[in-house]
Amino acid sequence: LSDKLDKALHVLKGHGSITEVNVAETLKEVRRALLDADVNFKTAKEFTNTVKEKALGQNVLTTLQPGQLMVKLVKDELTELMGGETAGINLSGTPTVILMSGLQGSGKTTFSGKLANYLKTKKTKKPLLVACDIYRPAAINQLHVVGDQIGVEVYSEPENKNPVQIAQNAIAHAKQNGFNVVIVDTAGRLAIDEAMMTEIANVHKAINPHETLFVVDAMTGQDAVNTAKTFNERLNFDGVVLTKLDGDTRGGAAISIKSVVDKPIKFIGTGEKMDAIDVFHPARMADRILGMGDVVSLVERAQEQFDEEEARKLQKKIAKNQFGFDDFLSQIQQVKKMGSMKDLVGMIPGAGKALKDVDIDDDAFKGIEAIIHSMTPTERTQPSVINGSRKKRIAKGSGTSVQQVNQLLKQFDQMSKMMKMMQSGGGRKMMQAMGK
Ligand code: GDP
Ligand code: MG
Repeated sequence: LSDKLDKALHVLKGHGSITEVNVAETLKEVRRALLDADVNFKTAKEFTNTVKEKALGQNVLTTLQPGQLMVKLVKDELTELMGGETAGINLSGTPTVILMSGLQGSGKTTFSGKLANYLKTKKTKKPLLVACDIYRPAAINQLHVVGDQIGVEVYSEPENKNPVQIAQNAIAHAKQNGFNVVIVDTAGRLAIDEAMMTEIANVHKAINPHETLFVVDAMTGQDAVNTAKTFNERLNFDGVVLTKLDGDTRGGAAISIKSVVDKPIKFIGTGEKMDAIDVFHPARMADRILGMGDVVSLVERAQEQFDEEEARKLQKKIAKNQFGFDDFLSQIQQVKKMGSMKDLVGMIPGAGKALKDVDIDDDAFKGIEAIIHSMTPTERTQPSVINGSRKKRIAKGSGTSVQQVNQLLKQFDQMSKMMKMMQSGGGRKMMQAMGK
């Protein structure tokens, strides 16, 4: 999608002003790109019409680059299409009851765990997970494994074949034992069938959840939209969870689902691990779809991984001029913890496209690490002692060249200077500066 949009928006760059002709040309491309990303025809057409009207009404803004203005219009309109604002979840009620719905394999069980973990850590809640998938014993086990992993209790009744009863019993259990959020994981089928719909509708009616979430695999495209529609007709759900937005998925499903069922997308799943959950931000998703890179997410992720304690220690060292290669090594390890390099690079505007075909991996750091490992402790803390013969020895020991050693020393020197400049702000500020 983003390649096509890039091409479409490129048409406008270099033109002095937005004319009716080049707007129409561009929007035709935009529409084609949206259709390719599984946005349904009606939505795509309405979208381009709205942008067209707005673009032609903006004569006043001729001082701006027309290309930029167009990007802004398309982006704003996409944001609007996906709901504009971030929608939170309703956490009222003691306990808050949250029901998961969706097809088998959409990611309900995984997301139930992610949400429990998220509420536990971010909102200091005490969640209870409930296994209402009564058809496969393995499903109950799966939820127990998830619960163990994140330290959240799982309520199950392996002998009971009545999901309505299990859910009700679980809520009673939660009330008696001080749980303030109950997350009910349910069974799904590979395709919509009446038995499944009746079952989830019955559970829904019996427990009257504060929040009913529809979980859907973002990679299923137009099918996701049809499933969303059917579930919404039966459950009138409160929000959507888009899973499997990791990898190459550009998020076209987000546009279609929101416009067809008119319910907010509340969370996204970006991986199989328990911390791969994000609150859905329409503006960021618009950026992502447009290939501008999700800079805000990048910075947030960096901040999360950047250990505050480490930052404080580091700050002291920088202030005292004691920052050495060992610290540099641990910085590299911090960066590696932030996720795979490819992921991170993909979030940087421009870089995502430029480096799409280049295979980047964590090996990028290997040479640097090898060089540092070949240094003596003294060399690491006082790089100034590294003279010509030491350089030769280090290069030999690390399987690199003197030139590479020199390059690293130079980079290190620049980095130390930069860090000294930023010392007053501490780790967080440093990462923010990196993000910008
Ligand atoms: P359920 O049948 O709806 O309960 O789906 P599961 O939670 O069992 O998930 C089905 C499969 O999708 C599992 O292999 C999960 O690990 C995987 N999965 C779930 N969410 C995500 C996600 O956000 N990203 C990726 N890559 N995989 C996911
Ligand atoms: Mg499941």
